[in-house]
Amino acid sequence: MAEPRPSVVIAVGDELLDGHTQDTNSAWLAGRLAELGHPARRLEAVGDDEEAIVGALLRALGEPEVELILVCGGLGPTPDDRTIEAVAAALDLPLHDHPDALAHIRGVVARMHAAGWVDSPEPAPPNLRMARAPLGAEVLENRRGMAVGQLLRGDRRMVAVLPGVPRELRTIFDESLAPRLAPGALRVTVEVRYPGGIEAEFAPIMEAISAAHPGVRVGSYPQETRELLLRLSGPDATEVEAAEAMLRRQRPPA
Ligand code: ATP
Ligand code: MG
Repeated sequence: MAEPRPSVVIAVGDELLDGHTQDTNSAWLAGRLAELGHPARRLEAVGDDEEAIVGALLRALGEPEVELILVCGGLGPTPDDRTIEAVAAALDLPLHDHPDALAHIRGVVARMHAAGWVDSPEPAPPNLRMARAPLGAEVLENRRGMAVGQLLRGDRRMVAVLPGVPRELRTIFDESLAPRLAPGALRVTVEVRYPGGIEAEFAPIMEAISAAHPGVRVGSYPQETRELLLRLSGPDATEVEAAEAMLRRQRPPA
């Protein structure tokens, strides 16, 4: 069976910390990563601050089990976009102008010019900031925007950098990053719903399930509809099924 390959997501942006923007990128990435067998062990949000981004990266790099680190946001043309400098500093790599990123930016600006959106067919200095990459980074094509994604592969782990605009991030992840990920261990998940279920009454059966099936994680999630959702998951389908049967036997859903 494939091993679990934990990941860490670092979302960058002052607007996330002050509540102006909801961090939907981390939630979306966490779902995809779980499906692909690279479950997130931490979702961390930091401001547009080089020291904070470097700190979050060094924390994740200091965890030997973590095989994939995703950094999202802060790749744009403006001076508050500091992610690339931070990634280069944390990995101790020099920055250079990546030829593929440069060609991409030139193409986007030329198309913007042809459409009459910008005066010059040539990229302005702020656009060229987005061509910078830590030495050794591979470019992940962005067909929806100007800031390309970047991928750095080490011996055992990868650091991927994605733009913050959600539709750009999702497209690059699905089209360019997911196909490059090693297969990880998949988890089987089942859900059982109890309309009007009282959480405290489920505590004993949850304990009994965990004792009988240590490989199964069981969680209780009250919904705003007053439905209680119990979710069981684990790497072994037979064990998850046995745990579900135990729950249904002792607490038949209405
Ligand atoms: P680009 O250069 O394409 O603009 P970027 O990496 O510089 O990309 P940001 O400037 O950080 O992206 O953010 C672009 C937009 O995406 C902003 O409106 C921002 O609020 C939004 N955004 C950034 N991070 C997130 C996130 N984690 N969840 C949801 N929206 C986000
Ligand atoms: Mg930003």
